Amino acid sequence: MYRLAALSLLFCAAPAIAATAPPPASALESITPAELMAPIKILSSDEFAGRAPTTAGETKTIHYLRKRFKEMGLEPAWHGKYFQTVPLTEITAHPADFTVTGGGETTTLDYLTDEVAVTKREQETVAVKDSPMVFAGFGIQAPEFDWNDFAGVDVKGKTIVVLVNDPGYYNPDLFHGKNMTYYGRWTYKYEEAARQGAEAVLVVHQTGPAGYGWGVVRNSWSGHQFQITREDKNMGRAAIEGWITHDMAVKLFRQAGLDFAEAKAAALEPGFEAIPLGLKFSVTLHSDISHKKSHNVIAMLPGRERPGEAIVYSAHWDHLGTNATVEGDNIFNGAVDDGSGIGALLALAKAFTLVSPRPERSVVFLATTSEEQGLLGAKYYANHPAIPLAQTVADINMDIMNVYGRTHDLTVIGLNKSELSEWLVIAARAEGMRLEPYPHPETGMFYRTDLLAFARHGVPSIVTASGHDYIGRPDGWGDKIWAEYFAHHYHKPADEIGSNWDLSGLAQQTRALFRLGYSLAESDAWPEWYKGVSFRAARQAQRAPVPATSN
Ligand SMILES: [Zn+2]
Repeated sequence: MYRLAALSLLFCAAPAIAATAPPPASALESITPAELMAPIKILSSDEFAGRAPTTAGETKTIHYLRKRFKEMGLEPAWHGKYFQTVPLTEITAHPADFTVTGGGETTTLDYLTDEVAVTKREQETVAVKDSPMVFAGFGIQAPEFDWNDFAGVDVKGKTIVVLVNDPGYYNPDLFHGKNMTYYGRWTYKYEEAARQGAEAVLVVHQTGPAGYGWGVVRNSWSGHQFQITREDKNMGRAAIEGWITHDMAVKLFRQAGLDFAEAKAAALEPGFEAIPLGLKFSVTLHSDISHKKSHNVIAMLPGRERPGEAIVYSAHWDHLGTNATVEGDNIFNGAVDDGSGIGALLALAKAFTLVSPRPERSVVFLATTSEEQGLLGAKYYANHPAIPLAQTVADINMDIMNVYGRTHDLTVIGLNKSELSEWLVIAARAEGMRLEPYPHPETGMFYRTDLLAFARHGVPSIVTASGHDYIGRPDGWGDKIWAEYFAHHYHKPADEIGSNWDLSGLAQQTRALFRLGYSLAESDAWPEWYKGVSFRAARQAQRAPVPATSN
């Protein structure tokens, strides 16, 4: 039902869209499997060592990208340069156990087994001592949903324990049901905790609502962490940002004389009031801190009519590097993630140089750093854009694209969030594809790619994933091959070019995205977020005419 309603809505395209002529065939035809494969082969080779930011792998990668952009005759888009320096702070927290006292007991939570914690504060030692613990439900303050987990409670200097995801995951009548809102992301929970003045935040992990297992949490929150270097040294953040396992939450609530499941059920009721647990939390975290530089690579094709307005194509060049603790092959080659996206970015850049005369609006090609570290390069770009975001029409993001052959469909993460979907319907149809919604919106995938950095600043953004309905393959073949990718290759050394690759599918998907960007670049339309989408307000504020000032 949902899908039928969604697609019929999409086919009522606004007249502004149909007015654009199709792109020149020579440009489209330049996007070939061979063209796409060349950069993937180079960037995913062992020589590039998994493209970790600030390593020799970065140097090789960004120089390769600069060379390619230069050869194409594209302009350097950042103050006369292709490289945009992104200042990073690297914090490596030493292992530290938690202690929770109260209810006549002391519980020790073992690092990695029961908990993980980091600090974003640039401090070598961060100590939290006997901080009162409060269960703050989902840790959400959302006026538009009439929801406030902090109503009537002061959590300043306290440790809050919060649930992952948002209430809609459990109740279709709350928030946007299974379509996770930004309030469901852990990034939001840490941000809100800081606004509330909390000293520490512990998110309770549960595999279903998190969208991934404890192993992913453990790996992502241990070892070194990068963040964008800030003047305030992140002292405005909570001192400790951590996770605990569900089992440990059950145990700690029992220690507090409470039942975790009952407390969780209470947190789903509108009007929920935070529950003081009568427990005290302590941890001392020692960290090594160093300052480094990484780089986004940015090229531009200036528009012939309105060069001050831009369409941005983005893909991340970075991946996970190497891991000495892995036996055997320990290079995370990142051929699909995101070699495929960078391959598409370069093919698109070349295709646009074949459009004559150039499109009316500028087209920016952005290869971001440190996506895997928390979208850092994209966030930095959003605060330091080549063309102001108020004049940026859209971000078309590419991350993990189709490498297994041509499809009848194209999956859109965040379909029906903005009018960009209506433009994409037409572009995809011209390449023989219908649009399908992402099958697991509850995992919050929309908030886990670079486009979030643009969306949060109001810029309509879209990211496509591979379709699953493969031409000439039996039903279920696409689901199977992608399940296999995510189980055995994704974020593993085995993310390499496979003997089962067929880049005719990547060419098809990239051509559709070329058509999308071309139609936007030849138009004077400003696609909008749909009503009810939280990014809409930011865009309206950004695009509002500046009132004339009188002296
Ligand atoms: Zn990626």
